[in-house]
Order: sequence, then C-alpha cells, then structure tokens
Amino acid sequence: MDRDGVINELIYYSEQGVIDSPFTPEQFRLLPKVAKAITKFHELGFKVIIISNQPGIAKGYLSEKTFAEIRKKMEEELAKEGAFLDGEYYCFHHPEAKVNRLKANCKCRKPEPGLLLKAAKDRDINLSQSWMIGDGLSDIRAGKSAGCRTILLGKMKCELCHLMDKQDARPDAIASSLLQAAQKVEEVLSQEKSQVPGPKSNIRGHSHLNPRPRASDIK
Ligand SMILES: [Mg+2]
Ligand SMILES: [Zn+2]
Repeated sequence: MDRDGVINELIYYSEQGVIDSPFTPEQFRLLPKVAKAITKFHELGFKVIIISNQPGIAKGYLSEKTFAEIRKKMEEELAKEGAFLDGEYYCFHHPEAKVNRLKANCKCRKPEPGLLLKAAKDRDINLSQSWMIGDGLSDIRAGKSAGCRTILLGKMKCELCHLMDKQDARPDAIASSLLQAAQKVEEVLSQEKSQVPGPKSNIRGHSHLNPRPRASDIK
C-alpha cells in the first residue's frame, strides 16, 4: 500500500496552496482505523508493505533524519494499537531533485512498478495474489503493472474517474478508507473461496488440479 493519504493524513500547505506529505513528525497523523485495517490484512494472511514515493528529501523539504523520525512515529503509533508493517519501500528520487545524488529518472518511482517488484523478490510474495492500495492513479498503475489487483481510496463521486480510462488505471475497487478496502478484499476472497469445488466434486485422479487460491495461501 501507498503511505500518504492511505495510512496518514495529507497536509495542506496554505502558503503554497498545495497538498503534500507531512514533513515533520508533528504533522504526521494516522488516518482513522488504519491500525485495525492493517490487523485485518494480517488476519487474512497478507503481508502489509508500504510502497511510497517520497521525493521530499530530494526537493529539500526535509532531512533524512526527520524522515526517519516520521517513520519512527508511524511505527510507534501503529504499535500502540497492536499493528505493525512487514516492510517499507520508498523511492527517494525525483527527476528535478535539488539534491544531486537523488536526481534520477528511476524505475522505482510510481507509476513504475520497481518497488513492488523489489518487495516481491525480497519477501517471496506472489504479486498476482496481492493487492495494491493507494489514493492516486500512479498507485493503481504501479499495482497493475506489477500484476496486482488494485483498490483506489477515494470518494465514490470520483474526481479521477475521467482519467482512469485515459491512463489505463481503472482499479478493481474503490473504497473510502483503508478499513473499507480490507473489508472489500475479505469479501472478494470469501467469494472466491466459496467457488472452490468441494471434496465430493473432485474427480479421482484429478485432485492435483488445484482449486482457486485460498486466503491462507496468500503471503
Ligand atoms: Mg498517496
Ligand atoms: Zn526511485
């Protein structure tokens, strides 16, 4: 899953008139019921991994030290509610970075799927049984490129809908929050589970034909 706008609130910088990531630990606030949603994904058998573009250091908006403090706050806030992340993958690059070493047209900045592929390789994850959840179409595009199913977090009266077809970024579902996304995934998995033929319908000698994946098979 993406981070900003999924796990934590976005920040409105009124002087610049832009909405962006939190750049101080004080600005970092978890969205409602995020810990509960993460716990739900764990119960369903998933690993919960952040896949996030964070060009703020490259643009000179915050230091590496502050970024680390924000991460620490996120982990602590989740831990207070008994939730944890299995991994965090960040792209720190930006094509117009002020910081030279981070200036790059990289393969890890979403909508490129690089970070998803890396996480899958590192953590032995089957991407076709995984879901990418984000609040932007670049999240959906990255997820689709990596072969995941996708959920867009947003309003049902969707401002992004006209862009979805244009960018080939139509998600499998739209949800209003991470918890609702977890509930949708649970519904889909239980529907798929109920389509699995029962033991009686298995023809002898064909039992090696595997039923559809079960939630418990998903890493
Ligand atoms: Mg986001
Ligand atoms: Zn990158």
